[in-house]
Amino acid sequence: MTDTTADAQARSTDGTGRNPAAPGGGRTVASAVTDAVVARLARGITAAPDAATADTRAPLTGERLATLPLSTPADVETAYRLARRAQQSWAALPVRRRTAVLLRFHDLLLQRQDEVLDLIQAETGKTRLHAFEEVLAAASAARHYGRKTASYLRDRRRGGALPVLTHTLEARRPKGVIGQISPWNYPLELSVSDALPAFAAGNAVVNKPDTQTALTALWARELLVEAGLPADVWQIVVGDGPVIGPAVVEHADYVSFTGSTRTGRQVAQQAAGRLVGASLELGGKNALLVLADADLDRAAEGAVRACFSSAGQLCISIERLFVHRSVADEFLARFTARTRALRLGGGLAYGADMGSLVSERQLETVTRHVEEAVKAGATVLTGGRARPDLGPLFFEPTVLDGVTTDMAVCTEETFGPVVSVYRFDTEDEAVAAANATPYGLNSSVWTKDTRRGRAVAARLHTGTVNVNEAYAAAYGSVASPMGGMGDSGLGRRHGAEGILRFTEAQTVATQRLMPIGPSHGLDDQRFAALLTTGLKALKTLRFR
Ligand code: NAD
Repeated sequence: MTDTTADAQARSTDGTGRNPAAPGGGRTVASAVTDAVVARLARGITAAPDAATADTRAPLTGERLATLPLSTPADVETAYRLARRAQQSWAALPVRRRTAVLLRFHDLLLQRQDEVLDLIQAETGKTRLHAFEEVLAAASAARHYGRKTASYLRDRRRGGALPVLTHTLEARRPKGVIGQISPWNYPLELSVSDALPAFAAGNAVVNKPDTQTALTALWARELLVEAGLPADVWQIVVGDGPVIGPAVVEHADYVSFTGSTRTGRQVAQQAAGRLVGASLELGGKNALLVLADADLDRAAEGAVRACFSSAGQLCISIERLFVHRSVADEFLARFTARTRALRLGGGLAYGADMGSLVSERQLETVTRHVEEAVKAGATVLTGGRARPDLGPLFFEPTVLDGVTTDMAVCTEETFGPVVSVYRFDTEDEAVAAANATPYGLNSSVWTKDTRRGRAVAARLHTGTVNVNEAYAAAYGSVASPMGGMGDSGLGRRHGAEGILRFTEAQTVATQRLMPIGPSHGLDDQRFAALLTTGLKALKTLRFR
C-alpha cells in the first residue's frame, strides 16, 4: 500500500496532523444544534404526542444529536388528510401567488444559510463547502421555478378536431398530494428541489426524509412556511423506511423518490400496483473519461471534486476513472498528488476539503469494497484506510489501480470516497467500458476539443454528461432535466419535466357551431365523404 495520505494531510495543514477544522477550535455541533433548536424543529413532524422516539448521532463526533418523535403509518394517514384539505385552497391561488412564496424562500435561504449549513454539517458530517452546494442548488431551484412556473403551466392552445369549429386548450392540473421520500446525503437539496416545483404546480407534499437528516428538512419547511407556504401543505413524517415508507406510497397521488436502486424498485412496484406515477432518482456508478488531449491540470482538479465531494456520498459522484494510456502516468501523478493534499476535517467552518462518512453502514461498505479489492490484487495509489483519529466515520480519499470486473468496487455503487482507475487506448473502448454498467446517471468527459466532448457525450448512456466539469455544470443547469437512465431511475427533476411530472394534462375542447356528427340533413354516408375530403385537405394544407 503506497499510503502517504496522512503525512500529506499533516504537511498540508499545520504540520501536526491535527484535523484543521476540528470541533474545539470553534463552534461545536452541540453548541450549534441545541436541544431547544431540535425541540422547535421537531414540532414540524406529524406524529402523535406519545410517539416513540429515535436518536440520531452527529457523524463528526458520534455524539447524540437529536431525539425525534417517530410517525406511525396512522400518522402518515393523518398527514395526508391534512395535506389533502390544505391542497384545495393552495391550488386555487393564482400561480403567481404560489411562485412568490418560492422567490421569498430563495431570499430567506440565502440570508439565513448559516443556520442550515450548521444543521447539514451536524447531520451529515460533510464540509461546509459541500453543505453550501446544497444551498446553491436549492436556491437555484427556487429561482427557476419561481420565475418559470407560470410559463410551464399556462394553458396552451392546440389545433382542434375541426379547424375553427373546435377550440382546444391543453391545461395542467396539480396531481394532488405528492408522496416524497428522500435520502440523507443531500438533505436540503433533496427535500427542497423536488418539493418546490410540486408546490408551485399547486400540490401538497407529504415528505419522509431520512431520520438521520430530518432536522434539515424540518428547517427548510419552517423557512418555506415563513415565506408564505400554508403550513399544512408540507407535511413531514419521520420513521424507518420499511415501516412508514409504504404508507407514504399508499396514499400518494404521485411518488417522488430519491434513494437506492433497491428501494426504488420496491417503491415503483407499489406505485404501479396503485396506478400512480413515480419518478425515481436512484444510484449510479459514474465514469469520468480523460481523453488524450485533455488539459491534465484542469482534469485532475475536476476529478478530485468529482470523486470526493461530500466524501463521495453524492449520487453523481465519480467512482470509475478512464484515462487514455498516453497520458495516464502524467494525469495520475497530478490526481494522486491533489488527492493526498486534501485536508480532512469536520468543524462548523469553511476550510476542510473532505468531511466524514455519514454512518457505520457507509463506513462498512467503503472499507469492505477497498479491503476486498486489495485482497484480490488491486493497488492503493493513495488513501485506503479509515481515520478514527479524526472522527469515528472518516475514511481517506482513496484511489485504486488494478481493479478488475470481479471486484465489487468495480461494479457496485460504493457511495464513498473511492475511485478506481482504468486505462484505455481508443475512444470506442472508453465509451464501451463506461457504458458497461446497468446504471446511467452521470458522466464527465475531459478534452480540449469541446465538440469532440459533446460527440462522446452523445454515446454515453447517462442522464447527464459534463464536459470539462465534474458534475456541477449539468446539475446546476436547473432549466434542463436531470435524472438517470437504466437502473439509475425513471423521470427527471429540473426544467419542464421536473414540474410537469407533478401535473395531470387535461385537454379542454369546446365545440362551436356544428356537432362532430351527421347534422344539417347530412346522412351518414355523405357525412363520411365530407370528412374524407376534409382530412385530405388538412394534409394538403400541411395542417398539424
Ligand atoms: P435508501 O434507498 O436506503 O433510502 C432512501 C429513502 O427511502 C430513505 O428515506 C429510507 O428511509 C426510505 N426507504 C427505505 N425503505 C423503504 C421502503 N421499503 N419503502 C419506502 N421508503 C423506504 O437509500 P440511501 O442509502 O438512504 O441513499 C443513498 C442512495 O440514494 C444511493 O444509492 C444514491 O446514489 C441514491 N441517491 C440518488 C440521487 C439521485 O438524484 N439520483 C440523489 C441522492 C441519492
